[in-house]
Formats: sequence, C-alpha cells, structure tokens
Amino acid sequence: MLAIRNINELLIVPPGPVPGRAMRHIETLRSAAVLLDDERIAWFGPDADCDPPAGCPTLDAAGGCVLPGLIDCHTHTVFAGARADEFVRRLEGATYAQIAEAGGGIRRTVEAVRAATGDGLVALAQPRIQRMLANGVTTLEIKSGYGLNVDDELKMLLAIRRLQAHTPVELVATYLAAHTTPRERAGRADEYLDTVLAPAVLARIRDERLAEFCDVFCERTAFTVEQARRVLTTARQYGLIPRLHADQITQMGASALAAEVGALSADHLETIDDGGIDALKRAGTVPVLLPGCSFFLGVEQAPARRLLEADLPVALATDHNPGSCMIESLPLVMGIACTQMRLTPTEVVVAATANAAAALNRRHQVGAIAVGMQADLVVLDVPDHQSWMYELGRNCVRSVVKKGKVVVGLTW
Ligand SMILES: [Zn+2]
Repeated sequence: MLAIRNINELLIVPPGPVPGRAMRHIETLRSAAVLLDDERIAWFGPDADCDPPAGCPTLDAAGGCVLPGLIDCHTHTVFAGARADEFVRRLEGATYAQIAEAGGGIRRTVEAVRAATGDGLVALAQPRIQRMLANGVTTLEIKSGYGLNVDDELKMLLAIRRLQAHTPVELVATYLAAHTTPRERAGRADEYLDTVLAPAVLARIRDERLAEFCDVFCERTAFTVEQARRVLTTARQYGLIPRLHADQITQMGASALAAEVGALSADHLETIDDGGIDALKRAGTVPVLLPGCSFFLGVEQAPARRLLEADLPVALATDHNPGSCMIESLPLVMGIACTQMRLTPTEVVVAATANAAAALNRRHQVGAIAVGMQADLVVLDVPDHQSWMYELGRNCVRSVVKKGKVVVGLTW
C-alpha cells in the first residue's frame, strides 16, 4: 500500500485510445490523493477524503502534478557508436545521401553494433534507459534493426531481454530486421528478407518471446510496399504484431498498407495524405508521431492537427536513435509537439500515455488513471501539466512510481 498525498493537479487520463478531438478535454482533480494497493491503483479522489490504513507509507507530492507514467512507444535505444560528426556535416549542408555515400548513415551504426558484444550493448543502453526513467518513462519500446543479419539481430533482441533485469521500466521488444538492406546484400533486398524471415528464425523469436512486434521501414531507400507486406504478413504467422515506419520521406502508400495488414500503429507520417488518414481511421491503426526527429533534422513536421481533427488517437514517441534523433527525453519531445505541431499540453500528455499504451497493445494495463490500472505514475515538481510544458527542456519529474513502487525520488 502507498498513499500519494498533497497533489495540486491529478490528470485523470482515461484508458486509450482517446480519439483526436477528445484529447484536449481531460478531467482534472485539484487537491487530490491516490491510494495504491500493491501494483494497482486502488482509489483516487479529493485529498480530504483520503483514508489510508494505519502505517501506510506516504509519498508527498508537495503541491505538484500527478499523471500516468509516460510510454515511449518508438525507440532504437539499443545501439553502439556515435555519429556526432554527421550531425555537424548536416549542419554544414551535406545531404543524407552524401553522408551515406561517404560511409556514414545507418550502416555505420550497423558496423558498430556488429562489432559490439551483447554485454557491450547492454552496458551502453542501461544508462540511457535510466535517464529516460528519470524523465518519467515507465514503459519503453525498443527495436532491433542495426544487426541486419540473423545473429546480430538476435543479439540485439537478447540484449533488450537482458536489459529488463537492470531496470524497473517495462521494455517492449520489436523485431526490425527489415530496417534496411545490409551493404553485403546491396541490390538483393528480397534475398536478405529470405534470411531474416526464415521459419527457424521467426519460430525462435516466438518460442523465446524475444519480440512482440514486427516493424519494417517502408521507404524508397529501404523496402517497397510489396516487400513490407511480405515482412509483416510472414511475421504475423508467428504471432508478431505488425507496425511500420510509414510515409516519412516518400509518399508510397505505406499508411494504406498499415491499414490493409491491420498494423497496430503506423509511425512517422510526415508525408501522409488524405487517403492515408482515411485508411488509418477505417483500420483503427494508431498514428505515432515523432516530432523530435523532424526537429533534430530541421525538416517539415507531420500534419498532427489534421490527424487530430480526423479524430485519430495520435500517439507521440522520441524515435531515440543515433542518426536522426539523439533526443532521449520524451517530455522534451512533447514540448516540441506543442511548439512545432501546435498540440496543447493536454493533448501531448494523452498522446504520450493512453494513446501510446494503445500503440503498444497495453491499453488495459497502463497509460491511464483508473481504479485497477497498473500503478505507474509520475509526480512533477510543477503545479500543473501546462507549467510542465511551459518549462520546455527542464526535467520537472520529482518522483516516479512503477507497479506501485517508488523508483525515482523518496517516500516519507
Ligand atoms: Zn524509428
């Protein structure tokens, strides 16, 4: 049992998916308290009505704001190597294609990941995940996709599995072998896909529960719609739920494919068109926007307001990766969504909690304040969530509770 008292503003985020037009109207409670019974939310209401059992430990919110633990539903946080020099070259005017031709880009990260041991990958990712937790993230999706051969892709998935023992953050693994075609199979994408979609490989991922999702980068420089369809439908036969990188740079109809294969989410969507919006809506696919990526690259953002006005349950994630977005902080990305996409602070909170939970097939477990939901909560040192987004870039997290236990901050 744990009581969280002295909350100035409790954001009563409902379970997702919350449709776009409902995202800006979330009920709040002033002078509130929450009671946790083991791993679950047992009660919430006015602090004056809070009646914890004798000896119940208390977490003093000190007049701060409390909301569900954040969910980062799209990251590439397991990687090796750094590409700061490419960041500078881009600022100096080099294009992504020029950097790739000079040996840079994603294939450089692939070389570093192949050279790393599983232990090495775990040691590199662990402090990143710790910092994400300190920023309020309690559920984190991580993709493979820098191994680009069977052994190194499995090494990445096993590293994600092992990281779970080092953190209270719930980790969710996605198999992204179809990130790009490796250098040694350039021009032979189908042959590469034969290897990473081999029945023995997918059966091992299923039997050892190494991943829940299968993702594919559907893009002119990566895989066609036909190839992406093959990846997702093959993986689904082994229980992997489809999701995809869609409509980032080139409009190829990837959102329509997401709808066709019943993908749980379609992520990026910088170039989505009206047909794609209609397709996602019909299929109930969650659009996951990654404004940190466009911000980091200095390019056009996805049409977030159009997606919200179409009543789609928009989610937000960092896309943390060494090439196109080194931003680890989901709250910073939420602030970027406010200033660059014109989302309100309430909308971004819903996008990074209830709707992100829906994008990870966890809408009944996390991302909401409701009796019986898992007790994943963030306590902020600001009085309300508007002040949190206003203080763009400062870590305002005072305490984090995961499954009813205080994992950041102190209990009194
Ligand atoms: Zn990504």
